[in-house]
Amino acid sequence: MTIKKPMLSVQDACDFLLNAVRPITAIERVPTLQANGRVLAQDQASQLDVPPMDNTQMDGYAVRAADCVSGEAVLAVSQRIPAGHVGLPLAAGTVARIFTGALIPQGADAVVMQEQCEADETGSRVTVRTSPQAGEWIRRAGEDIKSGSVILSAGTRLRAQELGLAASVGLADLPVFRKCRVAVFFTGDELTMPGEPLKPGAIYNSNRFMLRGLLEQLGCEVTDLGNVPDTLEATRDALRRAASGHDLIVTSGGVSVGEEDHIKPAVEAEGRLNMWQIALKPGKPLAFGEITCTDQRDAFFIGLPGNPVSSFVTFLLFVRPFILKLQGAVVSPPRRYMVRADFSWAKPDRRNEFLRVRFNDEGGVSLFPNQSSAVLTSTVWGDGLLDNPPGQAIAPGDLVRFIPFNELLA
Ligand code: AMP
Ligand code: MG
Repeated sequence: MTIKKPMLSVQDACDFLLNAVRPITAIERVPTLQANGRVLAQDQASQLDVPPMDNTQMDGYAVRAADCVSGEAVLAVSQRIPAGHVGLPLAAGTVARIFTGALIPQGADAVVMQEQCEADETGSRVTVRTSPQAGEWIRRAGEDIKSGSVILSAGTRLRAQELGLAASVGLADLPVFRKCRVAVFFTGDELTMPGEPLKPGAIYNSNRFMLRGLLEQLGCEVTDLGNVPDTLEATRDALRRAASGHDLIVTSGGVSVGEEDHIKPAVEAEGRLNMWQIALKPGKPLAFGEITCTDQRDAFFIGLPGNPVSSFVTFLLFVRPFILKLQGAVVSPPRRYMVRADFSWAKPDRRNEFLRVRFNDEGGVSLFPNQSSAVLTSTVWGDGLLDNPPGQAIAPGDLVRFIPFNELLA
């Protein structure tokens, strides 16, 4: 009698992987202009206030509010202060013509926007048609950032807005963890490269393009070893080459336990392996292990299933957080949003399904009609994945858990 091993839940598999990661600790300094997508290695504090001094938010006139209480004060324009220039102290009973970003002159306590003022022909006198509150339209020194405060913490993945923030406090370069080095190869005698004719029985290697794209978006240094024939020797040889100089090896295909699936015995021969059946659809089989290296620490190994949608989904759910942690990033689970299902799913699988859905014009989500793990069209059509618990039927109008692709990509 064979006892069927219970399948691992998605969460347990993810936890296991994240617990196994030994993050990269090597740090390098890179120019802030080249730090996009990198992971910050140390907290960054600001050495200055932002903005550094009080300045105007508007084109208009810097005034003493007390001079304008009548609501139609006529005042002399005593100076002109463009951004980047420092004015003189403001004489009582006068105003300063001032432009967005320029420093507030000493003595002024408000700015009146030019739309509420009327200048004479020469611009030497102006009627202020409002009575401003003290402080109006002034950006205060330190309003955004106080000197000494931490603006970015270690483990942050640097996006455009983090780079802007770093630059705003004058940081010309940043300490980041070195990039993670990933080797990737693809098993399957049927795989053909686009550009070559398709022989009977062959298919194009779509996973190569998809997985490389995903790895590159995560900021990995990718070594692509290409297609590997379905033999034990070729697979072992590819594993050895992939392990050298890399933190992680990712493969597609050959993770089932059929006669043509060589990943399991090859990884067992070259290192250590956990073969998992995950309660996940698409993407039930997943291989995780390490390949022994003599000249460096052992390389991690993750073997994804060959079906393209299974490869895609297992990458997003498992490889992505693994790589983020490897790179030193703080990893948080992708956000799930409750949305309305505008379809019925009457025959749920006993596994945790990740259905390809997209938003419709009625504010709910629609289901891609073909949820086969071989149909990549669904990933292009969809806006994200519907995370459906095992055995959960869905009726139109039900609230379901939706993970947008932009939570999982990049
Ligand atoms: P396997 O996991 O090797 O049993 O493959 C499962 C299915 O995925 C088979 O139909 C393969 O032809 C297909 N497949 C495997 N590798 C790839 C790939 N790199 N690109 C596209 N399809 C693939
Ligand atoms: Mg295969």
